[in-house]
Amino acid sequence: MSVNSLEDADIVIVNTCAVRQKPEERGIRYAKEAKRRGKKVIIMGCVAQKRKEKLLDVADAVVGTREFHRIVDILKEWKFGVLYTDFGSLTSYFLWRRKNVSFSEFVTIQIGCDNFCSYCIVPYTRGREVSRPVDDIISELTYLESRGVKEVTLLGQNVNSFFYDGIDFADFLKVIDKKVEIPRIYFTTSHPRDISLKVIRTVKNSKHIMPWFHLPLQAGSTKVLMDMGRGYTKEEYIEIAGKIREIIPEATITTDIMVGFPTETEADFEETLDVVKKVKFDHAYMFIYSPRYPSKSAIVYKNNIPEEVKGRRLRCLIEEVNIYIKERRELMLGKEYEILIEGPSKKSRDYSKGKTQGNLTCIVPGIFEPGTFLRVKIKEIIGLTPVGEPLQVISYPISF
Ligand code: SAH
Ligand code: SF4
Repeated sequence: MSVNSLEDADIVIVNTCAVRQKPEERGIRYAKEAKRRGKKVIIMGCVAQKRKEKLLDVADAVVGTREFHRIVDILKEWKFGVLYTDFGSLTSYFLWRRKNVSFSEFVTIQIGCDNFCSYCIVPYTRGREVSRPVDDIISELTYLESRGVKEVTLLGQNVNSFFYDGIDFADFLKVIDKKVEIPRIYFTTSHPRDISLKVIRTVKNSKHIMPWFHLPLQAGSTKVLMDMGRGYTKEEYIEIAGKIREIIPEATITTDIMVGFPTETEADFEETLDVVKKVKFDHAYMFIYSPRYPSKSAIVYKNNIPEEVKGRRLRCLIEEVNIYIKERRELMLGKEYEILIEGPSKKSRDYSKGKTQGNLTCIVPGIFEPGTFLRVKIKEIIGLTPVGEPLQVISYPISF
């Protein structure tokens, strides 16, 4: 049985992220606190993979990124005091079917990453890139469909390089669109170097694949992009984003951007702001560069940009990004959207929140069941959040 507070738990599973130093430390702090309160602690995820047996000081079991199905054995057989961080067998956990299914689910289609962007720890903690067999993914999706799932997000570090048995990512999306009738299918993350016109056109021509593109920019300066090993130029990024909006005018484009990469000068940072101005993102996750050993940039460069410079660049970037988010949200005024309700709005009681097909959060007055599809008309924008007037509950399937 799962519980809602640390207090009530006997066993605590801490799922960790090692992409930046702060979340890594936060995960370990949480594990220590749980241990201090006498809980059995299992650490899993990238920090488990990275620190391995060193974590047995603060955890009763350490389970790496490709061994997470072992959690079941640990819990069933009460096998504490163990370390599972070999990359191990790849297929077994794919067959593992979830019991608790929500209206919105994630399905892994590819594990690992071969890109070795110079700042990134993922290839070290998640191993080599492997695409999951297409039939296996389809059977998981069909199962989720039979359980009434309304939306699925297909996950991979670089989904555009998905390739299995002669089937590339665009072909794979076509197969899913035909065989699976889950109303909304999303995918993330797209790599700007690898996303093809074929993928964009496939999204355009599909019924279920939603027009949302998460296309991490990382930096606007071609020099910094090369130092990061990203494999595209500033101009190529702007061009591909333009193509997405040209082929699918209703598409949303979201991104990840970093400031303070060791070779980033003030002029390079200005180039990032220039891309923000030209592309006008619908949403962005923004970070300060964090050196991650053993990634290349942590070894090769000194992390010598002063903290206050990085902080200022981040604040300035957030401000600039928000200007265009606001501009993009205002384009929604007076238009109708189908939203999928996620639950009550945290900001205002008596409101529910949901997502448009382009994956943008909206709020609407009234309490609606999570998983309800609702047609709304956007009446106002509060801050950066569109507020919709509910028009009609939509029942799926509508067009199948
Ligand atoms: N596979 C995805 C990214 C996965 S990591 C891609 O290629 O875009 C998620 C985000 O974390 C990255 O897009 C990047 O913006 C950020 N990130 C990764 N390593 C980082 C580091 N060392 N410091 C700061 N941010 C980092
Ligand atoms: Fe990291 Fe680059 Fe792979 Fe993304 S593509 S996970 S940033 S190495």
